[in-house]
Amino acid sequence: MKIKSIKALAGKFPSPTSDNPVRDSWKWVDHVATPMSRYPRYKREGLLWAPPWEETSICVVTAEDGTFGVGMTIFSTPVNSLINDHFAPLLIGENCMAIEKIWDMMFRLASPYSAAGIASYAITAVDLALWDLKAKIAKMPVYELLGGPARDKITCYATGSQTEWHMELGFNATKLTCLSGPSDGPDALGLNEELIATKRDLIGPNVELMLDCWMALDLEFTVRLAERLRPYNLKWIEDCLLPEDYDGFKALKKRIPWQSIATGEHWYTSLPFLSAVSERSIDYLQPDIQWVGGMTAIVKICHIAEAAGISVIPHGGASTSYGQHACYAMPNIPLGEYFMQTSPGIPLDQYDRKGTELSGVSIPESGYVVPNDAPGFGIELTLDDIEKVTT
Ligand SMILES: [Mg+2]
Repeated sequence: MKIKSIKALAGKFPSPTSDNPVRDSWKWVDHVATPMSRYPRYKREGLLWAPPWEETSICVVTAEDGTFGVGMTIFSTPVNSLINDHFAPLLIGENCMAIEKIWDMMFRLASPYSAAGIASYAITAVDLALWDLKAKIAKMPVYELLGGPARDKITCYATGSQTEWHMELGFNATKLTCLSGPSDGPDALGLNEELIATKRDLIGPNVELMLDCWMALDLEFTVRLAERLRPYNLKWIEDCLLPEDYDGFKALKKRIPWQSIATGEHWYTSLPFLSAVSERSIDYLQPDIQWVGGMTAIVKICHIAEAAGISVIPHGGASTSYGQHACYAMPNIPLGEYFMQTSPGIPLDQYDRKGTELSGVSIPESGYVVPNDAPGFGIELTLDDIEKVTT
């Protein structure tokens, strides 16, 4: 069956709501270190330096018989321009079942300006829409098309600073964000150690604890931080260097061989993962299915890593339908990240998600989740829902 149309739209979804009283969500409470922390003008402004493309890029691919698939990503302004102006006119009329071919076409079409970076988000949106479409035509969930499920349920870890709440919800692994980095003066190491020591004390020795440094550190600071944190047995330290500092990651592995390192949410296409696997510079690979090139890229990365016995733990893997289907289907994805964006004290299933970006996404119970088994990714958005948020 041929592709009839490909259209990328910019949409602003409402947030999931709850009738219960609300405390502040973690991400608005904490000051965390960022790659821009070295510049005083932007240091205390959180993410106000981030690009202004706040709307979601919603790519709808429709087949000749009217079946449609939905792929969503971020950075809508440039992404939608790439999809609508460049990819769509050249892909309409292709066989909508030939996803590997279409992914390869997009990878090559983007080569004059690089398939990495912004183009990777555009490739992603089209790819995810095609997987959704193909599975709907096959009348099966995407995880079955992928050859899964590989497990009964996905084990989730929770990301955020409300660690007590994560424990109350039954998660058995939790990740914190690094508070301070190289530009925060002599107290920086101590502040981070104090945070980790407090949390380790709170959760005890048998809950996994991880630290996400969101590209804010440098090699020397990371080495010193890892040495300070060694007694607290972190499962991994994440994203400590700028994403393109491949040699830095190699050097880091040599300097702190006893500490597992995770990264990859800002790597695009399978190629940086191939290098990291062949160099064995990274212990846990963390591609984001909505950024890296979609499900097709995730499958390529899983196969590369599997051959080397390395685990893939996708960024936000348990937070979206796209990620959940990958985590459920691929044998070398042992954990899924659940990004805690709701307020503490309100059970996760007490939010109304209808008409939101998370409509149809399964919610973890006691630290585990099983994806929706409806055809496609189980995203419960109609074309009317999409029209409402894009007009
Ligand atoms: Mg991260």
